[in-house]
Amino acid sequence: MTTLFVSDLHLSQQRPEKLKLFKKLLLGPAIKADAFYILGDLFDDFWIGCDDIRSTNQEIIKILQNYTEKEKVNLYLMRGNRDFHLNKKFAELTGCKIIKDPTNIYLNEEKILLMHGDTLCTDDVKYQYWRKFITNPLIKLFYSKMPLSVRQFIAYGVRGYTAKAIKKKSPEIIDVSDKAVIKAIRDHEVKTLIHGHTHKRAIHHIDIDGLSAKRIVLGDWYKEDWVLIYDKNDFKFQRIADYIKDH
Ligand code: MN
Repeated sequence: MTTLFVSDLHLSQQRPEKLKLFKKLLLGPAIKADAFYILGDLFDDFWIGCDDIRSTNQEIIKILQNYTEKEKVNLYLMRGNRDFHLNKKFAELTGCKIIKDPTNIYLNEEKILLMHGDTLCTDDVKYQYWRKFITNPLIKLFYSKMPLSVRQFIAYGVRGYTAKAIKKKSPEIIDVSDKAVIKAIRDHEVKTLIHGHTHKRAIHHIDIDGLSAKRIVLGDWYKEDWVLIYDKNDFKFQRIADYIKDH
């Protein structure tokens, strides 16, 4: 049983080589995986709708379509802060299943907690307010009904605003709060939490209430590119090209 996890691919026309790698992975060894999870920020630009005809977006949709056409593949997608507004239409078009943040899954009967990770960055109070606003179902509905040109204009403005609000830094720069991590692990009664968002790839061991828990942080695809592989009761990271070569 193999389960693959990626996040923070930030695919865009600026990094065509990463798009190629994504295609190679999905139409290559990922077909043999029992499940493939994308835990947010598949896109780099704020996702504004399936009618956004930028070629990268259409190419990504095609790759996902080709992947889910295959027999027995399971593609799960969690929204990240770049793709808050991924909707039912996107799921129908690509064949992926959109999962909520947070989500619990079972791997070999162990309950695992999956998150994008931005909700763990509770020290960034401004961002949390912004997130609450932008993910409000009414705001999402209202936004989705606007003409494409208006959505583009707003997304462009939002990008400028968030950049300024966090002193020209991406929200990813701010790390998770230990308190929020412990709370999430306690609330969900898990020993393993997997998240992305911070781009600080690592496997942390934490002691909570005398029990040892694991916080696995997925790596981004900006400079490097990483997949987390769950196989034979164990987790390991591999660079994408290496994973393709080995499988
Ligand atoms: Mn993120």
